[in-house]
Amino acid sequence: MKPLRRAGKHYLGVDLGGTKILAAVFDDRGKLLSREKKATKPELGLTGVLQRVEECIHEALATAALPHTAITALGIGVPGLVDTKGEIVRIAANLGWHNVPLARLLKRRLDIPVTVVNDVQAGTLAVGEYGTGRGLKSFVCMFIGTGLGGGIVLDGQLYRGSTGMAGEVGHMPVIPDGGPKCGCGHRGCLEAVASRSAIVRRIVREIEEGRESVVTQLCDDDLTRLRSRILSTAYRQGDELVREVIHEVCHYTGIGAAMLINALNPQAVILGGGVIEALGDRMLPRITRSAWAHVISASPDRIRIKDTGLGDDAGILGAALAAQRSQL
Ligand SMILES: [Zn+2]
Repeated sequence: MKPLRRAGKHYLGVDLGGTKILAAVFDDRGKLLSREKKATKPELGLTGVLQRVEECIHEALATAALPHTAITALGIGVPGLVDTKGEIVRIAANLGWHNVPLARLLKRRLDIPVTVVNDVQAGTLAVGEYGTGRGLKSFVCMFIGTGLGGGIVLDGQLYRGSTGMAGEVGHMPVIPDGGPKCGCGHRGCLEAVASRSAIVRRIVREIEEGRESVVTQLCDDDLTRLRSRILSTAYRQGDELVREVIHEVCHYTGIGAAMLINALNPQAVILGGGVIEALGDRMLPRITRSAWAHVISASPDRIRIKDTGLGDDAGILGAALAAQRSQL
């Protein structure tokens, strides 16, 4: 069958995580035309991962019934530090990458312009353009997924900081002088208590120590299958262990949000990521309560704490947006 030709420009957005690759085709107004998913398998090494990215892109193009010549540009979000030109991944710990010229390598394979962005900064761009940050001059995003990252928009611009590291909200110390060890080497960082990995680690440990939980059954006795969706089901079934852990996560995330509010006085703190997609309706009111208990503002009700309004698509949408902007 001949691919269907659609009018207008199209952009590819790829979200390359340590666990999964998402590839999607969007039109120039950010409308999703197709979306495909694949396991990343970082153990295959750089060439193996690039091969899987390429396959995922071809699947997304096939689903959208578009030839790759219909694509104007590709944006790819990665969990790591990216150079300011959007070409080189300096460090991506989850992928085991150092100084990978990702834009050049993908352009060679696909023959389209490629822009590389930090995954969380991509998500923040999407929230500002299409999500609940639209029309706001200043907001902070906190994405709670495998890790916990953030993006800061000040005066309408994504704030990158002096060395591009701004927005590392996951490493704000919420348990000073203690708490669980963080991947960064310190203790008590927000990411070490509130990321999905931290939640899962804690629940698995407590179950192994003899705590009862419906999670065991929901995972068919295989706790490596514990994901946000199972956490959500267990929470909604009233599981005591999961509720206790999630409530603690809300408490610390609220403290993190309060730190950001006190330091930056944004119009909103916007929460996203897999954990929020699965449990946001239950978590947001608690996070808000905890934040208000720690903010200095005399009128905290003027600062909103809300979700992204974009579901799972913030990363891919932001990557496509970065590609679109690179062509302006
Ligand atoms: Zn840390």
